[in-house]
Amino acid sequence: MTGKHIVVIGAGYAGLSAAAGIGRGPDRVTLVAPEQRFAHRVRQHEIAAGRPVARPEIARVLRGRRVVHRATRAVELDLAAREVRTEDGERLAYDTLVYALGSRTAWGDVPGAAEHAYSAERAEELHRRLAGAPGTDTVAVVGGGATGIELAAELAEAYPARQVRLVAAGRVGGWLSERGRAHVLAVLDHLGVRVDEQHRVTAVTADGLTCEGGDVPAEVVVWAASMEPQPLAAASGLAVNARGRALVDDHLRSVSHPEVYVVGDAAAVDVPGIGELRMACATAMPQGRYLAKLLTGRTGKPFSYRYVTQCLSLGRGKALVQLIHGDDSVRPRVLTGATGRLVKAGIVKGLPLSLR
Ligand SMILES: Cc1cc2nc3c(=O)[nH]c(=O)nc-3n(C[C@H](O)[C@H](O)[C@H](O)COP(=O)(O)OP(=O)(O)OC[C@H]3O[C@@H](n4cnc5c(N)ncnc54)[C@H](O)[C@@H]3O)c2cc1C
Repeated sequence: MTGKHIVVIGAGYAGLSAAAGIGRGPDRVTLVAPEQRFAHRVRQHEIAAGRPVARPEIARVLRGRRVVHRATRAVELDLAAREVRTEDGERLAYDTLVYALGSRTAWGDVPGAAEHAYSAERAEELHRRLAGAPGTDTVAVVGGGATGIELAAELAEAYPARQVRLVAAGRVGGWLSERGRAHVLAVLDHLGVRVDEQHRVTAVTADGLTCEGGDVPAEVVVWAASMEPQPLAAASGLAVNARGRALVDDHLRSVSHPEVYVVGDAAAVDVPGIGELRMACATAMPQGRYLAKLLTGRTGKPFSYRYVTQCLSLGRGKALVQLIHGDDSVRPRVLTGATGRLVKAGIVKGLPLSLR
């Protein structure tokens, strides 16, 4: 034992893989996260559709590792005193802090959005709303990015009596290759999703969406327009960028507080030849694993990263695998059909196994 105490806050893809890996080493590790089971956030749209989602117990992931899990929230960081204050009133002193609180839905200051819309974080509640009162209500999903597309497809498939509309400020799947976007639009059409592009939402009311380009009446609104980092890093005085992501060096160490490492959606990780990595489990998990190696002395090299692929589920029956270059720019080729579905399902189901 070195007697060092490492506190990891957050048990998502980045935090849990970091804690599990650091727990193989000699240091004492405390993991602070409210949930008992791994959140597995990339499956929230499946939960909204009432699909069964296997989520391993955190205790099981950490079995045999030198990690104590405290099922509570971090509510304050005292970076000068090197303490994490928790919701249940404890002060946890650390030598090294790993900050991995991830991100949350960003409402974008749109009036009424937080009040009237559901988000991926409220997937179970959304499922209860849609399953509890069968009907023909219109469900408007806001956001033409990956989360909006996955939610719209899943909800349309699960609740075929309802009209699902996918509302986007620009083009739905606009970053995909031509073939990729065409496949997404074709599947959405097949599932009965009505796509409204160039519809910037300016307000959400109890009656639906007020938009540039025409209003969208809807009984249920789901907001998936963008994500923002959890605010604790900025509120505590860690150096952050304009979006609130913590600024880190090439070893994922805070540029303002060298005893703090930041991983996952919370960190603005700048990789040469790519730029700032996007928020994704595909970028979060390798950062958690890298940090575990760094803090247990198994590497001293800077963090390096290349993108491998982009995958979108389009309901249970279909998927898109967009082939990309290492810098995340798209290639023309995509995988669809059974191959695409098997690749996407294999990656998603395999993620919890890779946490250790
Ligand atoms: C519906 C949906 C589908 C997605 N699909 C994909 C996909 O196909 N591919 C992809 O790459 N990405 C996808 N993403 C994005 C991906 O989920 C995130 O980028 C990823 O979860 C980030 O991982 P993370 O470990 O940084 O944070 P998270 O997974 O967000 O984990 C954060 C952790 O911090 C904990 N936490 C939060 N606040 C506190 C606190 N105050 N104190 C203690 N703990 C706290 C949480 O409970 C959680 O354990 C999707 C997201 C959504 C919503």
